[in-house]
Amino acid sequence: MFANESPATGERLSEVEETEATEIGRAVARARAAQAAWADRALHERVKVVSKVRSRLLGAAEEIAALVRSETGKPLAEALLGEVLPSADVVTYWASVVEEQLEPWEPEMDALSYPRKEARIHREARGVVALVTPWNFPFALPLRTIVPALLAGNAVVMKPSEITPRTGARIADLFAGLLPEGLFSVVQGGATAGEALVASEVDLVVFTGSPATGRKVATICAERLVPCTLELGGKDAAIVLADADLDRAANGVVWGAMMNAGQNCGAVERVYVVAEVSAAFTAKVAQAAKSLRIGVDVGPLTTAAQRAVVARHVDAAKDAGAEVLTGGEAVDEASARLGYRPTVMKVAKAQEDTLALLRDETFGPVLPIVEVADVEEAISRANASRYGLTASLWSRDLPRAEQLARRLRAGVVTINNHSFTGAIASMPWGGVGESGWGVTGSPSALDHLTRPRLVVLDRNRATRELWWYPYSPTLEKLAIAFAALRGGAASLGARLSALLSVVGLLRRRSAELSRGAVDP
Ligand code: NAD
Repeated sequence: MFANESPATGERLSEVEETEATEIGRAVARARAAQAAWADRALHERVKVVSKVRSRLLGAAEEIAALVRSETGKPLAEALLGEVLPSADVVTYWASVVEEQLEPWEPEMDALSYPRKEARIHREARGVVALVTPWNFPFALPLRTIVPALLAGNAVVMKPSEITPRTGARIADLFAGLLPEGLFSVVQGGATAGEALVASEVDLVVFTGSPATGRKVATICAERLVPCTLELGGKDAAIVLADADLDRAANGVVWGAMMNAGQNCGAVERVYVVAEVSAAFTAKVAQAAKSLRIGVDVGPLTTAAQRAVVARHVDAAKDAGAEVLTGGEAVDEASARLGYRPTVMKVAKAQEDTLALLRDETFGPVLPIVEVADVEEAISRANASRYGLTASLWSRDLPRAEQLARRLRAGVVTINNHSFTGAIASMPWGGVGESGWGVTGSPSALDHLTRPRLVVLDRNRATRELWWYPYSPTLEKLAIAFAALRGGAASLGARLSALLSVVGLLRRRSAELSRGAVDP
């Protein structure tokens, strides 16, 4: 079941053993046993321990990048720049902000209604986090969650993709000897192992993958009443306006579409260009894509199944009359055994609704360009997708572009660039619709990796609170006077009179409570 041949070179990869379902249960039990003591450790100690991973990771940068390349086929430059370096930054970022972010804070309480009380909100670890990840960024994606999850006091059991199990195991090695036994472990396997992990006694599931699997994961979590976060697919649109710098826009969308051979949830998968600049822009894109070197700039597809999806989308579009400007065919070379030529296609608006190439995630080095009349049409077409992960706008008018950005249905909108922030730990990453509902990166990630625990301290020595038993007409009048005081009274005079009533009624209510008998 595990891929044993490198898509990059065809070399034989080491054997990996699948983890049995019973052993997955045991890994979760070990994680639970270790978690409470870990969460009890001072946060600065947890920071100290986890921070050690940074130098281990950087010291092994080339070796890790080569491993990632051997399993995915991506160029070494992409493995280094897109996986290894950002992962070191993930450790740096969280080590520097986590103490401030997890600091307890005090919400306000109205002293009149709730006298002599104070409250503090502590951020508590969820417990045991199940992490299920895909193969396209097998090193960076898991670490984006593992680092803040551990720092927040959680245990983590991770299942990497069955297509990149060795990179998953290498992540476990990075933590070897640093953490308490069982606090973080990696289990191996495909759908069966993933389901077994999600259905086990975990407290939170963090899933990244396809919408189809995300739905299954969410269903299991719903049955167990366990929260989950879902980072799913994308069909990113790039909108090119008449005032765009066309050279930058063409180079940018080509990089955004072809990087990682297009196997990127935040890849440009549709371009909407306004008619005025359509011909000039399209020619530049085709030229830029044609100049890319297979195996150097654009790696192979990671799996034969993925290449088949790409070919299916492109062939159906060709059959429907879309024009191939460059590429449009598979290529098998020593440097890219599962290659697909960087492809640019011109697609007519009329075809958009029926073509998988413009509706479903292609996940390959293919860029369909659609000419539109104006910006309004571009926005409505961009927003018409089931997905909503990221989008980009290309224009020299930044204030206008920023306003337009807020009308795009996407979790991330980049102006004059595309989706590069996915690798930056301080930036939130997440989508809407079938792109899921998770957020990784930024302090927002802690919203699901922790839960708030409110602790209230009451210094009130009265034998009863105002709102405790026994209820009375005075209490009712007091509540009505509070409503008037808080905005129900129409005029300043009425509000003043409500204030006087509140003061008088508070006095009467206190008296009846200390007497232990209510006014009639
Ligand atoms: P996938 O859904 O096939 O698999 C993802 C993971 O889920 C793998 O580890 C797999 O073994 C596991 N899995 C499969 N069936 C399962 C089940 N029934 N229960 C539990 N786990 C199960 O996705 P993939 O092909 O590995 O990855 C590509 C997808 O991931 C694309 O759709 C891509 O857009 C998406 N992705 C999203 C983001 C994001 O941040 N939104 C990032 C990277 C990839």
